Amino acid sequence: MKCIFCQIVDKKIPAEIIYEDRKFLVFKDINPLAPIHLLIIPKIHITSINYLKKDHKKLIGEMFLLAKDIAKKLKLSKKGYKLVFNVGKGGGQMINHLHLHFLGGWKTDEERIKSKMP
Ligand code: 5GP
Ligand code: ZN
Repeated sequence: MKCIFCQIVDKKIPAEIIYEDRKFLVFKDINPLAPIHLLIIPKIHITSINYLKKDHKKLIGEMFLLAKDIAKKLKLSKKGYKLVFNVGKGGGQMINHLHLHFLGGWKTDEERIKSKMP
């Protein structure tokens, strides 16, 4: 039985996909921890960062470049965002298919102060 994210790649399980190409899939996290919470995954099954091989060097670099492009598309480059890899149970990883959390969309302190001004 394929893992849950491989099944999303195969379109056996639905997801809100926001980007797809030959190597990667980006979709909304089902349980968002931020106003914008996306998961960037390689289409090939890699269990976690612990399972990266030298052959994956290009792929992992492209994952970060994709994160940067998504930030640009969402107009978050200037404001900022968070990229997180959880690794193993101790690192809070629940799904054993490599995924990069893309989190953002929070109000900045400046925006919060501005919104309270009369
Ligand atoms: P982890 O804790 O493994 O780093 O993150 C896994 C993430 O996948 C969690 O934030 C969780 O909400 C999300 N997730 C788990 N199952 C599904 C699913 O079936 N669909 C989507 N879109 N997200 C999922
Ligand atoms: Zn998988």
